[in-house]
Amino acid sequence: MIISVDVETGFIVDHNRTANITLGYEPDELERMRVFDLYHPSDRSKAKSILRRFRNVGSVVDARVKFVVKGGGSIDVSVNMTAIRDSSGKITRSISTIRDESERVEAEKVLGFARQLDSENRELVRLNEMRSEFLSRVSHELRTPLTALLAFASILSKDRTGTLTPKQAEQLGYIRNNGWKLEGLIEDLLDVARAEAGSFDIDTSEIDLTGVIKSAVDEAHSIFELKNQRLSLDLPTESAWITGDDKRISQVISNLLTNASKYSLPATNTTVRLSRENRRMCLTIIDQGIGISESDMPKLFSPFFRADNELTRREAGTGLGLVIIKSIVELHGGTITVDSTEGTGSTFRVLLPLSVEGLATAAGSITDHLAS
Ligand code: ADP
Repeated sequence: MIISVDVETGFIVDHNRTANITLGYEPDELERMRVFDLYHPSDRSKAKSILRRFRNVGSVVDARVKFVVKGGGSIDVSVNMTAIRDSSGKITRSISTIRDESERVEAEKVLGFARQLDSENRELVRLNEMRSEFLSRVSHELRTPLTALLAFASILSKDRTGTLTPKQAEQLGYIRNNGWKLEGLIEDLLDVARAEAGSFDIDTSEIDLTGVIKSAVDEAHSIFELKNQRLSLDLPTESAWITGDDKRISQVISNLLTNASKYSLPATNTTVRLSRENRRMCLTIIDQGIGISESDMPKLFSPFFRADNELTRREAGTGLGLVIIKSIVELHGGTITVDSTEGTGSTFRVLLPLSVEGLATAAGSITDHLAS
């Protein structure tokens, strides 16, 4: 837009149509305004120095300021001013070419914001890598002395010289038990570090999920009995072949069963069910425990998260189990989900894809069923 100003009075004396359109004022409104009024209040002192410079030099190049528009808004502009002089050389008018820079300024702001986000993001990634590295190193460093400690406790408890008193044997038992607990915790920390670093290895072969579940349930029975809880099993009669790591799948089931017991009161029931869903097997573990509140649900698979309730305070735990088993399930091409109602119980569902052999067996059992 172009605006011409009487330097003596400061009033706008001429302008083009773009000035009306961009600034929103009618022609007669603009002609009743002083140019100074066009500058945004935050730029008024800048405006004074621009106008002073113009009176001294007779030109201004690319002055970046804000102009007010009708209705109270503002636009970013670049102002270039040239002088018209009378025969004595005195400046009588200014002719200003003003470019609307709002879009460019906005684009620069967005770009600046994107750059800042990008650098913050890189910093977060770097810190996260450092955290994983720290976790992994500390766990390794803890494991070595602990292995030695447990090995010597084991040798001592064999009592080859026959000199251990019953009290000493009991105390050695405490050392070994706590050492094993610590070993489990270190293994969990290492698993989380591996999962975060993407170096979680699984050792796959053809495994029968039904068999793995049966063994894990057998091992978990004593935990449930200790708390006077029931554990029931609902398994299909045929095998369910998947390609997977039996130790890791067993870890998934054990963890879910231990949680079902830990976060339930006595005299409650937990059901373990396996069923086929198209090309996948669905393992469901349904407990009648304390459940998980709606606000805790989104935090459930985050490292070190433990709900704040009486049972979690009473039961030992690290908040790492669910993170680890989620990684294991996903490495097997599966998913893990949970449904829960606080005070009523939780249902964890693990979906795992059947192997080629598993699919063939499933197809065979349907054919047998139809033929019979
Ligand atoms: P940990 O049991 O060692 O605390 P997990 O990662 O296995 O760690 O579980 C994280 C948290 O999720 C638990 O502390 C508990 O608050 C909640 N949780 C897990 N399973 C259940 C369940 N079956 N019922 C109620 N809460 C559960």
